[in-house]
Amino acid sequence: MTELRALDGNEAVARVAYAVSEICSIYPITPSSPMAEMADVWSASGKPNIWGQVPDIIEMQSEGGAAGTAHGALQTGALTTTFTASQGLMLMLPNMYKIAGELTPAVFHVASRSLAAQALSIFGDHQDVMAARTTGFGLLAASSVQAAQDLALISHAATLEARIPFIHFFDGFRTSHEVNKIELLSEEQMHAMMDDGLIYEHRNRALNPDNPFIRGTAQNPDVYFQGRETVNRYYDATPGIVDRAMGRFGEVTGRRYKLFDYHGDPDAERVIVLMGSGADTVTQTIDALHPEGVGVVNVRLYRPFSAEHLLAALPDTVKMVAVLDRTKESGASGEPLYQDVVTALAEAIGNGARTSMPRVIGGRYGLSSKEFTPAMVMAVIAEMEKPRPKQHFTVGIRDDVTHTSLDYDTGMHIEDTSATRAIFYGMGSDGTVGANKNSIKIIGENTELWAQGYFVYDSKKSGSRTVSHLRFGPDPIHAPYLVQSANFIACHKFDLVNKIEVLADACEGAVFLLNSPYPPDDVWDRLPRPVQQAIVDRGIHLHVIDASRVARNAGMGKRINTVMQACFFALSGVLPRSEAIQQIKGAIEKTYKSKGQSVVEKNFAAVDAALDHLHEVEIPTDRRSERDLDAVVPNFAPDFVREVTAQMMRGHGDELPVSMLPADGTYPSGTTRWEKSNVSDEVPLWREDLCIQCGNCSFVCPHSVIRAKFFHASALKDAPRSFPSAAISARGFPETRYSLQVYLEDCTGCKLCVEACPVSCPDEPGVRAINMTEKAPILEEGRANIEFFESLPFTDRAKVDFSSVRGSQFLEPLFEFAGACAGCGETPYVRLLSQLFGPRLMVANATGCSSIYGGNLPTTPWAKNEEGSGPAWSNSLFEDNAEFGLGMRIAADHHMAIAKGLVTELASKIGEELADKLVNSRQRVGSEIRAQRQRVSILKEKLRQLRDEEGDDKAAALLSIVDHLIRRSIWLV
Ligand code: SF4
Repeated sequence: MTELRALDGNEAVARVAYAVSEICSIYPITPSSPMAEMADVWSASGKPNIWGQVPDIIEMQSEGGAAGTAHGALQTGALTTTFTASQGLMLMLPNMYKIAGELTPAVFHVASRSLAAQALSIFGDHQDVMAARTTGFGLLAASSVQAAQDLALISHAATLEARIPFIHFFDGFRTSHEVNKIELLSEEQMHAMMDDGLIYEHRNRALNPDNPFIRGTAQNPDVYFQGRETVNRYYDATPGIVDRAMGRFGEVTGRRYKLFDYHGDPDAERVIVLMGSGADTVTQTIDALHPEGVGVVNVRLYRPFSAEHLLAALPDTVKMVAVLDRTKESGASGEPLYQDVVTALAEAIGNGARTSMPRVIGGRYGLSSKEFTPAMVMAVIAEMEKPRPKQHFTVGIRDDVTHTSLDYDTGMHIEDTSATRAIFYGMGSDGTVGANKNSIKIIGENTELWAQGYFVYDSKKSGSRTVSHLRFGPDPIHAPYLVQSANFIACHKFDLVNKIEVLADACEGAVFLLNSPYPPDDVWDRLPRPVQQAIVDRGIHLHVIDASRVARNAGMGKRINTVMQACFFALSGVLPRSEAIQQIKGAIEKTYKSKGQSVVEKNFAAVDAALDHLHEVEIPTDRRSERDLDAVVPNFAPDFVREVTAQMMRGHGDELPVSMLPADGTYPSGTTRWEKSNVSDEVPLWREDLCIQCGNCSFVCPHSVIRAKFFHASALKDAPRSFPSAAISARGFPETRYSLQVYLEDCTGCKLCVEACPVSCPDEPGVRAINMTEKAPILEEGRANIEFFESLPFTDRAKVDFSSVRGSQFLEPLFEFAGACAGCGETPYVRLLSQLFGPRLMVANATGCSSIYGGNLPTTPWAKNEEGSGPAWSNSLFEDNAEFGLGMRIAADHHMAIAKGLVTELASKIGEELADKLVNSRQRVGSEIRAQRQRVSILKEKLRQLRDEEGDDKAAALLSIVDHLIRRSIWLV
């Protein structure tokens, strides 16, 4: 009997790839990392492949290394695979040309992802695989979790016969991270697909000193060209081989695939051609709405591209074809799939295979996991009906610059009303996503129901929001887009109702479960008006539970996930309540058994208590709040922050038109200060009476939340009454006060500051000079204190002792409120760097954590001081930041040399003494740098005069590089 399992695309693929391989050479990269990690774990635990041997997993130093290792293993006759995405695939390209050129059977599994262009993006589209389409690898595209598993096996089977290596790809995140209930391939089925004879042939072709030969020679103009043409017949044969492998797979499993799967009206006049998960969206839309005369071609085998099979798939009646590419090829006459389809049709006309040429339009959709919905499909279909449809259009965005985009109906959806459609709002690491995955397993694997889960994270490390989209229903779920009309919404953190429109996608009569610290009879008046209005207008049933209290009382600390999960089952009706509770408890036992019976018991207690504390709220008909959602940023924030950054923060980034976004990826510095993430309910409180002013707390804070200043006592005359300060503990500073300020709304509650405090109060055991306390009671006065603190000047850099911890903490941090993980061990050093060198710092960033906490929109932590100076940050790649930084160093030194030369040439005009100092002054310590800054400022004035009044070309040239006269500090971070 076929085993049904709820798993995500990565696991579905890794399971097959591992089972039919001998060697996996790996290097992790999002969103493919779980495949490599799972293979590693399975190998370490001794799990065998289908031949009873444990595959060797080798993790390399980069994807380039993984590809090189794969190449070597393949040449030695091993069945070899790897997993990658995006830039990782780019690093593999040179080896891929070799592997394909040598006709080597292999499969690379790719969770396809955007490439870094104007910005890095970890999300999904086809830019990476499209950039690899010239390597000679075959490309097989999967459109769902089920298809990803199935095509994984088909690609491993087909490559052995074809001798063409394959990229098997599926949409990053949308498929790689979607959990869906699928029919699992059994070991027997995998065996049935893998031909032992072909495996032995692969081994026989391997390098072998007992049968030596040379492979990979250097060739000259006389034979290289012919050599390249020798492979043609293999590529010609490959579509047939894949087709036969798909046929065999159909016989073995009952699931049938074709190179080009056609679906829709057999006499369609309008056909959409695309690949990946978008094809499932088009298919579902056609099935749900039955637009007349429309069909879809789901491209499975993209390379080698078989025009013959495409033509066979297209109905003869077709008059209009829309080809949708999930990629962008700037400057091309069309995106790759579009070009292939146009070529296939044009050649068919030329060789008489077709008598009429349909009109073909091309469009782009879904870059970086942008949603592709049924409404967008209908917009494409509508466009095809127009007498003059847009060519090279976009769908899913608003392009108000080059006007490529199609309009679509944002309110349209085709949700299956027989299914439960649930959306859960949570915070990163609060257990919401884990609990939801658990619910999918419970329902998907223990009931007849089909299940799907997709999880939207922002990529910030702390204070991030998570939104889980779950569907459960009687029929298999093919909906590769977010829930659009939810009949169940849960908000696991109360604060979110004040910030985002949590009920935006709630349908009429939906259930709204809210984790509320306020009791049922009080909660209504705590809700902002838009939430109240949505509840009343759509007849939403509001249920509340103080899950934090229930969890605390059950001994589970802050972990509310079990409590909220029990409430979901109780309210959603997916399962009968008693059965649901039994299943949850079963899952708890499985998950926590290894942690001891007491942990299991605590979770059981939380489940039982949850239902006792769950209350439906009676909706008053007469009371509405006057309060709107909280302002995302204050009115005095800069224009860009209000108009662009704030929209992203509110979750409205999808609605920003093209014109609002910088064309070259340049964004303003220091925007984290506008994002009060309020992650922690507990914050540190300074005890000025106990403090020894060592600076340790500020030094260790990963988020630059604690700042120190000293100032003359007279500055306190306008201070709020609650503003804390103490006499500075230093000789020679009469009437000088010291103050430590905690930026309460930016604290993540990691407690490192408390741990680093060396003070221990003799009278109050356990009390230090800084201690955690509840935030709510001190927030208002804290805000006033911060405002006053910010009005106090930072200490002059020239007067600070850079060499001590305490001294360094008087320097203004120009890296602040980074979205790193709470307690990050890296960011305190980065902040210190910004304090020591910030005003003249250039950062060459290597992709990784530091590019996410350092450069992830909507807000970024690298800031500037009052004078407008601060770190200039840029990211190149993961693997080349040393070279990137070297380029910066060489260019800075080069321009400094030119600038000094021009200063010398202009000495008589700008003043000999100034010129001499500009060129020859030392720039080591803060005071010397400050002096040089002042000289450069004077120089700029003089140069502007020379340029504007005398038309001096040298002055103009010097002005263009004059800032290089201040010595730059260049770091690799
Ligand atoms: Fe900084 Fe952590 Fe202390 Fe908050 S608790 S101030 S984030 S060190």
